[in-house]
Amino acid sequence: MVWKEILIRYGELSTKGKNKMDFVRRLRQNIRYSCADLPPLTIRTEHDRMFIAIDSEEMKEELVKRLPHVFGIQSFSPVASCEKDMEQMKMLAKYVLKQYEDTTYTFKVEVKRTDKKFPLQSHAIQREIGGTVLSTYQNLKVQMRKPALELRIEVRLDAVYMMAEVIQGAGGMPIGSNGRSLLMLSGGIDSPVAGYLMMKRGVRIDAIHFFSPPYTSENSLEKVRDLAKELTKFGANVRLHIIPFTEIQLKIKEEVPENISMTTTRRMMMRVADKVREEISALAIVTGESLGQVASQTLDSLTAINAVTTTPILRPLISYDKLEIIDIAERIGTYETSIRPYEDCCTIFTPANPKTKPKLDKVEHFEEKTDYETLINRAVTNREIHVYPEKQKEDKFASLL
Ligand code: ATP
Ligand code: MG
Repeated sequence: MVWKEILIRYGELSTKGKNKMDFVRRLRQNIRYSCADLPPLTIRTEHDRMFIAIDSEEMKEELVKRLPHVFGIQSFSPVASCEKDMEQMKMLAKYVLKQYEDTTYTFKVEVKRTDKKFPLQSHAIQREIGGTVLSTYQNLKVQMRKPALELRIEVRLDAVYMMAEVIQGAGGMPIGSNGRSLLMLSGGIDSPVAGYLMMKRGVRIDAIHFFSPPYTSENSLEKVRDLAKELTKFGANVRLHIIPFTEIQLKIKEEVPENISMTTTRRMMMRVADKVREEISALAIVTGESLGQVASQTLDSLTAINAVTTTPILRPLISYDKLEIIDIAERIGTYETSIRPYEDCCTIFTPANPKTKPKLDKVEHFEEKTDYETLINRAVTNREIHVYPEKQKEDKFASLL
């Protein structure tokens, strides 16, 4: 067994000064969380990097699969190790570079010699190992400035360490380092992407979904549950609040003229969301809205919706084109679930010609006819709450919620 550890580089975290310890602690916690079903990890933290000990080839493979999803990691590298002996070092160098044997790469060897008693100097080590490697892999071409591939060798006091592969991390910040927000999660393509982008910036997510049985089916609800589950793969649990919305929607249909009913529906959703947000001590509400995409997403409509609260409403997709959103959805693996057919509570009640410039005073006038506050409180009280991932992890990580 030559693989010894995985080296993790933090990237953006390194610049965070006094909050850095908190970020590093969270990153460590989130890495453990995403590997909760593996044997417990041994993690060592240094100034600006972190090391996870590995004790088998399978464990290395498993981490290489999972770490790219954990926010806060800029890049990482599997590190191999051997004794301080030139013959062993040559063999290890060939082993570490084996995966690159099929393609032409520019290449160099970089040596750091911390153990000053090692008989060969850095330059000599570089030459000898370089010679061996180049005669074995003729596809490698030496280039000292910015080569595509770099074999880094460190001769430390205890052993020799080598790495070549640099795997891209997800970037961003560890989830939890930027507080909690409530994501309005429909069954569409946009809202899971909005949730992902906020999680990437370190925000812990609760999700809220409005459903209107019998107008929306159990299948649509199942789909939203699956989307919430998919968001957990980025390294944090997600709590889903399911709001019974039929009563409010029927009331709106009865009382509000059709062409502004969409605005009132959105405003009521926002009021319900804001109450749930307060109960769970979240600081903001996140939506998947994108400017101009539909009638309820014009600046006039968004202004009328915002008017029900002073809570910050974060719309990470506001400037994205639909194709850009689809691109991210495909990359993060939510697209396939999002395009499953479903009925959204809004589309079912959608009027033929919703106003793109709803007049706030008119909207408020029609809302005054009904005691929505009572209906909203009832919907909040009667909500169902699910936590993902389900069971074992839920108990084990309750303290992280
Ligand atoms: P999406 O693909 O996210 O469904 P969309 O383009 O279909 O977006 P709308 O249906 O107008 O847009 O919804 C805009 C935003 O409002 C959604 O991104 C989501 O944040 C929120 N939303 C809409 N319907 C619901 C719902 N049933 N439950 C929770 N949030 C919702
Ligand atoms: Mg939708």
